[in-house]
Amino acid sequence: MKIWLDGGLRDIESARVSALDHGLTVGDGVFETVKTVHGRPFALTRHLDRLTRSARGLGLPEPDLDEVRRACAAVLAADPVPLGRLRITYTGGEGPLGSDRGDRGPTLMVALGATTRRPDSTAVVTVPWTRNERGALTGLKTTSYAENVVALARAVRQGASEALFANTVGQLCEGTGSNVFVVLDGELHTPPPASGCLPGITRALTAEWTGAKETDLPLDVLERADEVFLTSTLRDVQAVHRVDGRDLPGAPGPVTAKAMRIFDERSGADLDP
Ligand code: PLP
Repeated sequence: MKIWLDGGLRDIESARVSALDHGLTVGDGVFETVKTVHGRPFALTRHLDRLTRSARGLGLPEPDLDEVRRACAAVLAADPVPLGRLRITYTGGEGPLGSDRGDRGPTLMVALGATTRRPDSTAVVTVPWTRNERGALTGLKTTSYAENVVALARAVRQGASEALFANTVGQLCEGTGSNVFVVLDGELHTPPPASGCLPGITRALTAEWTGAKETDLPLDVLERADEVFLTSTLRDVQAVHRVDGRDLPGAPGPVTAKAMRIFDERSGADLDP
């Protein structure tokens, strides 16, 4: 397995990042997870746009997107996997402990892992913690992911594969690594970015392709929604068959099944939509 680091491909066993990399010591970094299909990245341009926006939001130097594209191509050529995920990590880099930023230039790392297709439906739980819709990092994909790790672990302990957050004013927001859609009276809705969710790329494509509306929704909409589904790079469109204790029999319902079909068709036809 190879990884791109310090401007070239390295063996994963010998690739080393400084113990004083600020991505590690203070979580000063951004990342993207990009789906790959038969060695080709999906929606790479959108992912690189978001990487740049996230880096800007943290005040990191703009990533060199030509290098990031070269790195992705090199890593993909080195390890052909039928279905995979590229992990692009870009941090503040090495610097003294106690300073607010690395001073030797940013660290760029690109690695590839094999994945498998997720089940068509899953269970989710809500968690008692909130997403901050007005934080300095809201909407940015940063490496400060520990809160998501804790919430996901709680969900897994409860037999679910995803945890859903409300924001500080009680509106439905997103999952630890996914966006959420609900069907109410036959209409498809998803929370707006102002809810504090990450502007997911799968979310944007799904909303565009299905005509879903961006709507402020209270968390308890989950108690009455006819259908619920998740979107993410690793899940694509995935139906929800249980929310907390409530079963959603027949998942995927008709609106979800249609969204799944449209996403499969269009994402298969255009690799950089
Ligand atoms: N929300 C969060 C917090 C995420 O981490 C992710 C993806 O990792 C998503 C939503 C879904 O975004 P995307 O569809 O771009 O993968």
